[in-house]
Amino acid sequence: MGERTRIVLASANPKKAAEIVEILGAHLELVPRPPEVPEVIEDDDTFEGNSRLKAVALVAATGLAAVADDSGLEVDALDGGPGVWSARYAGEHATDAQNVDKLLAALADRPDPADRTARFRAVVVLRYPDGAEIVSAGHVEGHIAHAPRGPGGFGYDPVFVPAEGDGRTFGEMTQDEKHAISHRGRALRSLLAQLDA
Ligand code: IMP
Repeated sequence: MGERTRIVLASANPKKAAEIVEILGAHLELVPRPPEVPEVIEDDDTFEGNSRLKAVALVAATGLAAVADDSGLEVDALDGGPGVWSARYAGEHATDAQNVDKLLAALADRPDPADRTARFRAVVVLRYPDGAEIVSAGHVEGHIAHAPRGPGGFGYDPVFVPAEGDGRTFGEMTQDEKHAISHRGRALRSLLAQLDA
């Protein structure tokens, strides 16, 4: 498994793909996802299962190794939701703003940050054409803010306050600050460590 193996990015979400390039790009030769590959139906009920579906589809379409990330937000007061449904929480084609609005409404009767605890999870699957794969996971604990703050990131970043931070949301942090503690940063650095092993 040479470090310079060309690896196609399986993510169809441009902001997520950009983050993966920011974290892995200096270490691995990444190839953009070919635009003609149809979007993969993510119908598994786990992050790992959905990540594998995307990686396998891109290996089949390109003949190259593929790296996929499936991720989401688990809110304790919502019994771990929206979880694997995070992208579609407010509907099949929901925007980030609609998802955030629905989340804030669902937590409106819980003003105490202790009742708004949550975590982001990411599971990354690197799959090779021969079926070999490396799986790695990462998570970051935090709570949901009362209103969106900050222009950075994507998805739920403006309302996620990481417990290890200084009170700012991911949306208020630089990308490097986010990557240092984020679920995706952790999962991808663990992948790199396994590749070097
Ligand atoms: P999927 O992995 O493409 O199914 O989508 C994951 C969804 O979870 C995204 O559309 C976001 O709503 C949310 N999500 C995952 N990672 C992040 C993150 O780093 N910041 C904010 N939202 C995220």
